[in-house]
Amino acid sequence: MRATVMYEAGDVRVEDVPDAKILEPTDALIRATRACICGSDLHPYHQMERSETGTRMGHEAVGVVEDVGSQVTKIKKGDLVVMPFAYSDGTCEFCREGLPTSCVHVGFFGNPGYDGAQAEAVRVPYADGTLFALPVDEDDALMPSLLTLSDVMGTGHHAAVAAKVGPGKSVAVVGDGAVGLCGVIAAKRLGAEQIIIMGRHADRIALAKEFGATDVVSERGEEAVERVRGLTGGFGVHSVLECVGYAQAMETAIGIARPGGAVGRVGVPQDETIPASLPAFFGNVTVGGGPAPVRAYIEELLPDVLEGRIEPGRVLDRTVGLDGVPDGYQAMDDREAIKVMVRP
Ligand SMILES: [Zn+2]
Repeated sequence: MRATVMYEAGDVRVEDVPDAKILEPTDALIRATRACICGSDLHPYHQMERSETGTRMGHEAVGVVEDVGSQVTKIKKGDLVVMPFAYSDGTCEFCREGLPTSCVHVGFFGNPGYDGAQAEAVRVPYADGTLFALPVDEDDALMPSLLTLSDVMGTGHHAAVAAKVGPGKSVAVVGDGAVGLCGVIAAKRLGAEQIIIMGRHADRIALAKEFGATDVVSERGEEAVERVRGLTGGFGVHSVLECVGYAQAMETAIGIARPGGAVGRVGVPQDETIPASLPAFFGNVTVGGGPAPVRAYIEELLPDVLEGRIEPGRVLDRTVGLDGVPDGYQAMDDREAIKVMVRP
């Protein structure tokens, strides 16, 4: 089968690899009908050191179940399923508490040793816990939005939940990538009154406004903090969604949180420590978040997608076939595309 393999920074290829197959009785094999390139795939695209074997890429997919292991009981051959970026057993105490990304059996697709989703097929461990069967067929018009339930929409929602967004609250979203834009959708969906998008790409800002952003701040650093305070009566916002992961983004996030506010961070931190610890302490600002338990959010978000109340699939503004994946990485890296959908 064909699959995407990264060998080092800037070197991503689509090549023939051994066919994915069932290895454990709890596995399913899916034929990927849609996949994506993620902003987080750009980190190895910039930094990965040379690897002889390479790493399979991609962690977001919708696919059709081709085969299941002998212990798989809920997921059936022929189901159309969402594959979240992490697999989980669905039964351990963390899965039952709604945190499948801390499952005792968790694993992350598209990391060394695991199958990637930018491929024709994927072996999915713990299929019953991991996969979510969809009530539509594989060419449904809602497919881009359904695909975002595998990561970016669930991740934006998680940022909003961790930032304690609620009715009437003021919210700022740091980052205008696909997750930040989905964070705008999530904030609006949870009843936020004011939603400030912080970014500087005209096309992304325009989409953020359509998703419900009420204000735009394109400055950075101290100027950005001043602008947000100016828009919020001098105090800052109740909730900040930090969707970037760099130290400066977190510093800004804490700088614009009002006393007693909360920062929900879902951008993968690129530093060991959290900056702005003193202002966070003296402002009683909660800093929360982490890898989004997207599997646990699908049930809540799916009806809004199926009934057209939210359209997160609009962040997927370019589509490529499997052979176009390397160009897709380049387009995202050049900021020519917000997020690329792959049709293997
Ligand atoms: Zn579990």
